[in-house]
Order: sequence, then structure tokens, then C-alpha cells
Amino acid sequence: MTETIIKIDLNESPLTNEKIHNRWHPDIPMAVTVKPGDDFKIECYDWTGGQIENNDDAADVRDVDLTQVHYLSGPVGVEGAEPGDLLVVDILDIGTFDESLWGFNGFFSKKNGGGFLTDHFPEAQKSIWDINGMFTKSRHVPGVEYAGLIHPGLIGCLPSKELLDEWNTREKALVDTDPTRVPELATLPYGDTAHMGKLQGEEKAKAAAEGARTVPPREHGGNCDIKDLSRGSKIYFPVYVKGAGLSVGDLHFSQGDGEITFCGAIEMAGWIHLRVNLIKGGMEKYAIKNPIFKPSPIAPKYDDYLIFEGISVDEGGKQHYLDVHIAYRQACLNAINYLEKFGYSRAQSYAILGTAPVQGHISGVVDIPNACATLWLPTDIFEFDVQPGSDGPTRYLDGSVDVPLAPDLE
Ligand code: ZN
Repeated sequence: MTETIIKIDLNESPLTNEKIHNRWHPDIPMAVTVKPGDDFKIECYDWTGGQIENNDDAADVRDVDLTQVHYLSGPVGVEGAEPGDLLVVDILDIGTFDESLWGFNGFFSKKNGGGFLTDHFPEAQKSIWDINGMFTKSRHVPGVEYAGLIHPGLIGCLPSKELLDEWNTREKALVDTDPTRVPELATLPYGDTAHMGKLQGEEKAKAAAEGARTVPPREHGGNCDIKDLSRGSKIYFPVYVKGAGLSVGDLHFSQGDGEITFCGAIEMAGWIHLRVNLIKGGMEKYAIKNPIFKPSPIAPKYDDYLIFEGISVDEGGKQHYLDVHIAYRQACLNAINYLEKFGYSRAQSYAILGTAPVQGHISGVVDIPNACATLWLPTDIFEFDVQPGSDGPTRYLDGSVDVPLAPDLE
């Protein structure tokens, strides 16, 4: 039987669990050690550590303490791993807990985190998604049901001290260009809410003061939020410290490309079954700087899409130069405008794009001045026909249900 090497209790605060941490730092002690070739299970809190509840009130999303996130399980030490190696991680399976068969999607308040379309959705909202086996649907977003493309939003190895210093230096330089911006340009170290696993006392305080926040993806992987890095994937991680120190968390039942709502996917607590191996000296052998991975042999099969185009012209009509960010935003807004015609609210449409297995593509980046990004919306997730036709859209929803909104507190 596969051993569960990190266990959690959903009724207990993650802060009481020494096999959980919420910052990246090479001094965080290994929570547990395994050997190359071992497979094992790890249990994970949802990324907020239980701050969001299964109810119809978005106040918890509005008031979420983002300095606490992400709660990660680990680090798992791998015997024999040394800097310069590649850690090969097979995701053998991912699953839910019987006592927690639901997940959440939220839009953060612009004043507390924001999101990809935060100027259009400045207030906190959330939708709850029930998980029925491999499928999910939401009481807040009727008319859609789809198969989960279950994956860890966040997985990676501990950085070396040199790499950590590099992260902190370059991210601070960015924040210094506009220190009062809302939302902030990057999340800098913040010791007060750092949970450093087994580390205690002065050692903990020192590491907490410089421990990197877990929000961005970096050279070690981290919070990549790649929906296709799902069960069945094989990942090759660069190793930066002795023992590698693999940590994982932020499990998603499903997510659209871009995780555009930021809170983000269908966020869930659950477990992940992993196997680890090593390629000695693999970073140099294969010129690996960032992780590489192979996709799963199984994935939800959606073959028909409506594909929305977007270009580098912003909402005000201003021309930008090959700006992929703006082009993808326009593709998403075009899809939201389209879904609105079927009776969805704009918030429901945004929640669909954040959670369903929509694809995002950078389709062209050379045709000056416009980049072209595309948003692929699977048509088979809808319980009604969303194709355009000569009769015009049939309004499927009557507006009686919406994604709960929590107005900003002033
Ligand atoms: Zn997530």
C-alpha cells in the first residue's frame, strides 16, 4: 500500500502542521525524506488553508489574507539529490477527500489581489463548485458541467540561497518602479505570517524575513498554474539544494488557461500520489533552466470549440505594440460579451472562463502592431446550444441566480 507521508486535518489550522510551509527558503528543513524510485501520497490544504467556505457569501474571498498563502505540503527530501540534478516527478494520481467534495472560484477585490480582469470586476465574488466523481457543476453558474482536468497549481523544489537572493533583488527592483500601485507589482517577503515548517525561533525569524512569497512561478517551477500539468504528467525539475526539497499544493479540480480569475481555478483540498527519480547532473546535460514536463496520457476530451480572437488594442481603442497580455484580455472580454447574450451575467461568464477547460493560445506575435491571442471555449460543456445561428441566441438563463458579490468595505 502506498504510504501517505504528509497528512493534514481539515479541522486544524495549517499553521499547527510542521509538514506545511508558505514561503520558499533553503533553510526550511525537509518534512520527510524518500528514496529515488519511491512513490508516496501527500495530502494538501486548499491554497488558502481553509479561509474560504462552502456558502453563498463572498465576504471570505473579499477578506482573504493573501500574506498567508500558499499553504504547501513538504518539503520532501530525496536521498542523493544534489544541486545540478534533475528531479523527475511522476504525478500518478490526484484526488479529493470524501468529506470535502467541493471547490471554490473567486475574483479578488481590486484592493486585495485583483485578477486578470480586475478593472472590469473590481469587487470580490465567488462561486462554489460541487465535485461529483470526475465532473463538476455549480449552483452559482447553471447550464455548464464538465470533466475535471485535475492538477497541482503549485509544485516545485526549494531554491538555493543564491537563487532566492536573485528573486528578491529583481522583484524588489520591479516594485520600486511603482511602490504604491494597487494591486501591487509583486509580493515581497513578509515575515509576520510566514510558516516555515519545522523551523522555529531565531532561525525561523531570519528565514521568514527573506523567504520568497509563493505567488509567482519562477525557475524552480512553483505557482505555474498549468492546467495540463495534470495526473499522468512527468515533470523534470531543476535541483538547487541537497535533497531537492519538493513541495506541492494549490490543487485545482479544473482551470482554464491563464487562470484568469486569479482565485482562480476550482480550488480544492485533496491528495496527490507522486513518484520521484533522479537524473544526475541533468541540468547541464539537458540545458535545463526552468522545469520541462510531459503531458498526461488521459485528459477530458473536448473537440469542439468557439474560438475568440483578441488583438493588442485596449478597451479604450488605444493601439499597443504586440502586447500579448492585452490581446488575451480582449479575447476573454469578447467571450464574456458573447456569453452574456445567452443570459449569463458577466460574473458567471468570467467564472466559466476561469474554471472550465478553456484553452488560451498565443496565435501570432509578429504581425505588427497587433499580437493575436485566442480563447478557445469548449462548446460541449454547455447544456444548451451556444453556436451562432440565423435565429440569434436563445436566452438560456433568466438571471435569477448569480455569483455572490461582496461589496468593498470602505
Ligand atoms: Zn490555485
